[in-house]
Amino acid sequence: MSDNYRRPGGSDPRTCEQPPSNKPRILLRGARILTQDPAQPEWLRGDILLQGDTILAVGKSLESRRLPDDQVIPSEGHLILPGLINAHFHSPANFLKGALDSLPLELFMLYEVPSGPDAAMSSRAAYIRTQLAAAEMLKLGVTMVQDDAFFLPVPTGAEVDAVFSAYRDIGMRATVALDQPNRPEAEKLPFLRDLVPPALRVRLEQAPPMDAADLLAQYRDMIGRWHGAADGRLRAAVSCSAPQRVTEEYFRALDRLSAEHDLPFYIHMLETRLQRVFGETDLGGRSLIAHVDELGLLSTRMNVIHAVWIDDEDIARLARSGAQVVHNPISNLRLGSGIMPFRRLARAGVPIALGSDELIADDAVNLWSVVKLAGLVHNIGDPDPDSWPSAPEILRCVFQGGAQAARQADRIGRIAPGYQADLAVLDLDTLPFTPLNDLPRQLVYCEPGRAVIRTIVAGEIVFDNSRLTRIDEAALRQEACTIMRSLAPQRERLLREASEWMPHYRAMYRRMLDHPVGMNRWIGDADPCSS
Ligand SMILES: [Zn+2]
Repeated sequence: MSDNYRRPGGSDPRTCEQPPSNKPRILLRGARILTQDPAQPEWLRGDILLQGDTILAVGKSLESRRLPDDQVIPSEGHLILPGLINAHFHSPANFLKGALDSLPLELFMLYEVPSGPDAAMSSRAAYIRTQLAAAEMLKLGVTMVQDDAFFLPVPTGAEVDAVFSAYRDIGMRATVALDQPNRPEAEKLPFLRDLVPPALRVRLEQAPPMDAADLLAQYRDMIGRWHGAADGRLRAAVSCSAPQRVTEEYFRALDRLSAEHDLPFYIHMLETRLQRVFGETDLGGRSLIAHVDELGLLSTRMNVIHAVWIDDEDIARLARSGAQVVHNPISNLRLGSGIMPFRRLARAGVPIALGSDELIADDAVNLWSVVKLAGLVHNIGDPDPDSWPSAPEILRCVFQGGAQAARQADRIGRIAPGYQADLAVLDLDTLPFTPLNDLPRQLVYCEPGRAVIRTIVAGEIVFDNSRLTRIDEAALRQEACTIMRSLAPQRERLLREASEWMPHYRAMYRRMLDHPVGMNRWIGDADPCSS
């Protein structure tokens, strides 16, 4: 246990006074607690008292505050953490686990996004699809997800309702956005227009099926019906997907919507080398981050997803704006995107959260694996070992970073009075913690999520004793398989379409490699222009 982590401090319980209430109360008794609360980071043995969806008190012993009707959960030998926060995810890919070989993002997306009217998903299929990964996350102690959901071919009220209802019914905390580009494919990518034959160019230049006005109407509808639903467990966010995928008019309208309701704003920027080259070829030599900054649209509400191919000027712009970065290291390896300059961002004061990204970019949707990789991969990015991330630093990214990205730092990501009762309970009498040498390091380097025995969201036990309490997991799995079989013809059509486009996208990718960008975010000498 590092000294800066073990600060048992005083023994007075931390409490918040609440008016008398008949909300159900739970007393978790005798656990080891890592709070992520700077005022009291750890209790070697402590109690947590929950009332309704809120943490009422945390302390060495809360027995004196126990009421006759309280549910008491003996927690000796358990470790209690705040619920983990997955800061970046796209639920619409949930059926595609293991479906694809690794490919660069721009080629990979050809296999992911069906086009045409038959791409629409029934609301039941969207509901089951959403719950499939939510179930997996809850079983790993992940209590909150930021879902940057895309809808094909267009968002409908029924499908949006299905996604929110799925999270509501399984008991997960979620923030959901509509990730819908409104510019034609030809405008989002460099070189491609010149590389395709005329017949394909026509298709490439077609506008997406829903315009900005209709998308904004969908947003207003979603915010009106779902933002703050399920006692505040469900919230809306906005997403432009990426700056090169939307018109400036729509981008500005989304920013106003985000400011009006104080919503997180999801934006993918500089995930790939190709996106860096896009700045050179299509933005007059400015990076996408410089472009957004010069539009005056970088803000504290922004979740900048990936930020791999960024330079020092981009980092300075992010730091000045107060935006946060969401780091998805497994996705960045699966798609060969590169390695984000973690230490340079952290040193500049840019807050970092962690995400799994969509299920075909981290097929296991396992935030513990993301944690481990984030804790390891940056060791090969800097020869100075003092610059390598420590285990407590990575844990802060999960909890404080995730809560801040979601604009909920005052209510989640911490075990402290007044915070939401989102908890992950782990059994310390398990192999990852035997022998127990250092808790933060073993959480980051040893624990793949197997030790999670109980998950509590907003004061409700949603996973306990190997079982999700609100849904029938076996029935969910069975229905998911049935739906996936019914989607086989759509899938086959998508594969045929992708093979038609693939030679041209590969040509675009090769041309991108010839274009120097003055940096290398791949390992070793993989960048042909860097040597
Ligand atoms: Zn993403």
